[in-house]
Amino acid sequence: MNRFTKITSSIGPKCEDRETLTKMIQAGVNVCRLNFSHDTGETQGKKIDLIREVSAELHMPVAIMIDLQGPKHRIGNFATEDKYPLTIGQKFTFDNDPTPGDSTRVQLPDADVMKSLNVGDRILLNDGKIEMTVDSVAPDKIVATVVRGTEIWSRRGFNLPDTEIATSVLTEKDRADLEYALTKDPDWVAISFVQKPEDVAEVRDFIVARTSHPVKIIAKIERPNAVERITEIAAAADGVMIARGDLAVEVPFEEVPAISRHIIRECRKMNKPVIMATQMLGTMVNSEFPTRAEITDVANAAYLRADSTMTSEETTIGINPVNVINTMNKILSYADSDAIANPYDWSRVENIPENDWSRSVASMAYLNRASAIVVFARDTVAATEISCRKPDIPIVAVCRERLIANQLCLSRGVFPIYDEELFGKRDAFNSARKFGVNEGKLVIVDEDKISLRTLD
Ligand code: PEP
Repeated sequence: MNRFTKITSSIGPKCEDRETLTKMIQAGVNVCRLNFSHDTGETQGKKIDLIREVSAELHMPVAIMIDLQGPKHRIGNFATEDKYPLTIGQKFTFDNDPTPGDSTRVQLPDADVMKSLNVGDRILLNDGKIEMTVDSVAPDKIVATVVRGTEIWSRRGFNLPDTEIATSVLTEKDRADLEYALTKDPDWVAISFVQKPEDVAEVRDFIVARTSHPVKIIAKIERPNAVERITEIAAAADGVMIARGDLAVEVPFEEVPAISRHIIRECRKMNKPVIMATQMLGTMVNSEFPTRAEITDVANAAYLRADSTMTSEETTIGINPVNVINTMNKILSYADSDAIANPYDWSRVENIPENDWSRSVASMAYLNRASAIVVFARDTVAATEISCRKPDIPIVAVCRERLIANQLCLSRGVFPIYDEELFGKRDAFNSARKFGVNEGKLVIVDEDKISLRTLD
């Protein structure tokens, strides 16, 4: 009960067996992220079934988040798998000719990208190691100058930080993946390379047309145009992921911490949970210990009151995924208790109207030194909004539906339980006791009724 920041764990080859998953959930995983950039369809479906089974066996709610690959762009193939030399200042051509590439040209298989590029736009290849600037554009040919990078080879991914790409946020692969994933009733779907609020609306329409299951949507923020429109995108989505991997390629890397703080602050105002993602404990792919910088990065996410941190390759292909979760749990637990003992004055940055009801709940809890807030949760709204006021005491969410309990696993400080009996009896005392809150005052929220009672 001393960790408020949630742990989202990417699930991959090194942790998708029952024994490892069980240990990881026991060690603190709240959300399992299934990255559809790698496996697709049935393979991911088996993982979803297993996570559901383990969560039920342990009586621990766990959310399942499908992460769609999105329009990740790649150049075409070269004649061999060798690296081809580039010289700074040379011209390089992207065209739509499938003939294998060489040091002067390669195919750009994506027509939407070709149409969207403008003179002066930057093309960043291979995680930004190669940079080119567009000199001229024609319907089937882009000529660019190499500004950085000495070699290029087949299928390199590329980012276009200056370009609004006129393409659907859902590729054909994403549509097929999502169509299948929806048959498995996921709790959250994360969308990659969101550029505008309409992208979120497009995915929501796709989902609503296929299922009545109220799947929630995470917008991954990894493009500069998404950062610019964060308020509108957060309003359209149900939560946000700061996808620092691609973000640090698309914006100058020194801006990533400031952008992260800005996103967390805006989302708090919009009542949307935020996941801080990528390379949090990256060295633990090959090491049993995190670096000092990683420890500090994880702790800082807790101090900023992000809702969740995330693991990536350190759990999917790392040497010891259970140790990664134990490590993250330890760092977050300490930082969360320190943040509560030495609180930051949120009134300086928070801009919530005084008559906002969730602010009233948090103030009532604060002024009465309450031990916990108990919410009878018919849906995720009340608990999520109270969580965004960061009351720094546990928010016990008693849910009558498993789905609501699962979805609330992402919200900071929310301890969801799926228990129809406690919900039916509105039993706030026993609900709080289940999480070790045995004395003090409880603020109880049941629809529009807010009350204060002393545990006896
Ligand atoms: C990222 O870019 O930080 C990220 C989380 O996205 P992905 O792992 O899907 O590339």
